[in-house]
Amino acid sequence: MFSATVMIRRTGTLWSRLTGNLMQTPIEDLDLFRMARRQFDRAIPFVHPLKGWRGMAEMLFEPERTIKLTLPVVLDDGFVHTFQGYRVLHDNVRGPGKGGIRFHPDVNESDVKALAAWMTWKCALTDIPFGGAKGGVACDPKILSAAEKQRITRRFIAALGDDLGPHTDIPAPDLYTDSQTMAWVYDTYSMMHPGQNNLPVVTGKPLDLGGSEGRETATAQGLFYVFEHLLSSGALPSLPDIPGSRVAIQGFGNVGGNTARIFQRAGAHIVAVSDSRGGIHVPDGLDLTQVESHKEKTGSVVATPGTTPLGHREVLEVPCDILIPAALETQITTANAARIKASVVIEAANGPITPEADDVLSDRGITVVPDLLSASGGVVVSYFEWVQNLANEHWTETDVHDRLRTTMVRAVDTMVTTRATLLDELDDYREAWAEVQPDAPPLAPPTLRTAAYVVAVQRCRRATEQRGIWP
Ligand code: NAD
Repeated sequence: MFSATVMIRRTGTLWSRLTGNLMQTPIEDLDLFRMARRQFDRAIPFVHPLKGWRGMAEMLFEPERTIKLTLPVVLDDGFVHTFQGYRVLHDNVRGPGKGGIRFHPDVNESDVKALAAWMTWKCALTDIPFGGAKGGVACDPKILSAAEKQRITRRFIAALGDDLGPHTDIPAPDLYTDSQTMAWVYDTYSMMHPGQNNLPVVTGKPLDLGGSEGRETATAQGLFYVFEHLLSSGALPSLPDIPGSRVAIQGFGNVGGNTARIFQRAGAHIVAVSDSRGGIHVPDGLDLTQVESHKEKTGSVVATPGTTPLGHREVLEVPCDILIPAALETQITTANAARIKASVVIEAANGPITPEADDVLSDRGITVVPDLLSASGGVVVSYFEWVQNLANEHWTETDVHDRLRTTMVRAVDTMVTTRATLLDELDDYREAWAEVQPDAPPLAPPTLRTAAYVVAVQRCRRATEQRGIWP
């Protein structure tokens, strides 16, 4: 059944804003794939024509294929351990699947499906010729040696075989995987496909192995370009300029750490950061060099001298202007949304805010810049890496940044203009939706997230219709 109302009732969770009935007791459904569906369902009433919408919506939302693998690996103790691996190709109507591989104990099928779907919408919104994919292995990278991680990676890639490929499905780094992991991915695939240019099979590779300048910092840099353009174009009137603004960041890995450095270089004060062990706070701004060297020595930002300790989620609630969740999914829920003090939340992680928390933030006048856009710099530069690999070229960092900025600015403009049009024509959309869903409550005004979804879903729908359903 398609309707968000029915879905939410069936899963026993709170009413969404689409139902028009705000909840008394928040009991949220934090399953990631169902959460992605609730976000998607909010966009459907705006994706016209509505004729045939149910079947088309099912086709666009459900993954094309889900691969589940059992991976036996001999660990350093000399014994065989088995791990579960997943690779989901969500959609390839606009191009081959593209998406990261994560190593984390919580990796599961539902999460990987949701993350793959978000990749489809990111690629469509930024208008790069890829579909969405994602993969992961349920393992604890913190207790694995480098040799064990290498064996898990190689076994995973070998087991996927020709389900990966430069024109089929192209992996990249994600949580707890990095350029070294991507080098193993490349090498494994290349050993299985000798005698051809295999570099475009994976992105996020080391520079010496066909990696792109700027890929390491791309997600953070892209987020910064998005924010800068939203500010300069007047789309965030209640926000201060970047110099002097207070920024709190959850997560201090690739995305969080680079975002902190880029915002600090632009004159912002990074007042709080955190990692998997906890957070730290200095209201006037952290000394990032000191935080980094403490993390280098101890493995964590926690207990950096001169800082006040914070719990994992407390970092989200510190007084600040800009909050950037850059760690895990579902971090802002109805349980803490009312305590967020920022005026804008920019999503760097995928899916850090539940749809119900989105409603709370929106009611409180807090703008959310959605992950589909603000966390898409990584896949955009991955696309640049793929193009360079196919053409045997190596672009300069300046070139990569210029192209990234152009792509992000264009996507921001499309999202903002779409939202403005949807708001102007809201009555017409309400009327059209009431005709196909007579029992549905009036549509809520679309947020930036819904506008981003509308652009992405509309593009995938158009491509699907132009290609035709085969046979
Ligand atoms: P990473 O492995 O480099 O860093 C993850 C960080 O999150 C680490 O600092 C870790 O300690 C921290 N963390 C883990 N659990 C935490 C918790 N409970 N509370 C606070 N911090 C916690 O990963 P990354 O590449 O920086 O990815 C971070 C997020 O950004 C993920 O959601 C990922 O899907 C998303 N993302 C990554 C990319 C990319 O290019 N790497 C692109 C888009 C989105």
